[in-house]
Amino acid sequence: MALQLLTHREGLGKLQQALSAVDAEIKTCSTCSNISLGDPCHICTDDTRDAGSLCVVEGVDDLWAMERSGAFKGYYHILGGVVSAIDGVGPEDLTIDQLVNRVEKGAFEEVILALGASVDGQTTAHLISRKLKPLGVDVSALARGIPIGAEVDYMDDGTLSLALKGRQVF
Ligand SMILES: [Zn+2]
Repeated sequence: MALQLLTHREGLGKLQQALSAVDAEIKTCSTCSNISLGDPCHICTDDTRDAGSLCVVEGVDDLWAMERSGAFKGYYHILGGVVSAIDGVGPEDLTIDQLVNRVEKGAFEEVILALGASVDGQTTAHLISRKLKPLGVDVSALARGIPIGAEVDYMDDGTLSLALKGRQVF
């Protein structure tokens, strides 16, 4: 893409204008940290959504993935990352305090932790869970198991073990 722009420099000005417009028009939602044309964002202002459910995700891309699934109709909270000792990210670098504040003030009955299955994701989930449970809200996490279309014999031991523990009546 960089080479294309350097060899067709007439496009550079248009790209610069487009990027400036994006910078001017795209806002970060002060409630959930989503990016949108307004603050609060189009999701936070949608009063047809389930006011009792709050889904905690790591980033905007995770929110988009959840929205694509069409399976979740509540509201979101974007953490801005996960706690990571290697990357030097601590709880204070994330929007955990804002999350606790929202749960304290809001009418959420359930907080769903939709974080990755990595060590950092699970560490962050435990940290958040410890902060939210005393507030009297139900805290849940996404199920772990076999992806749709996958074969059992290709599963790693950890995934298969979690899938077995999380089995449901068929
Ligand atoms: Zn929002």
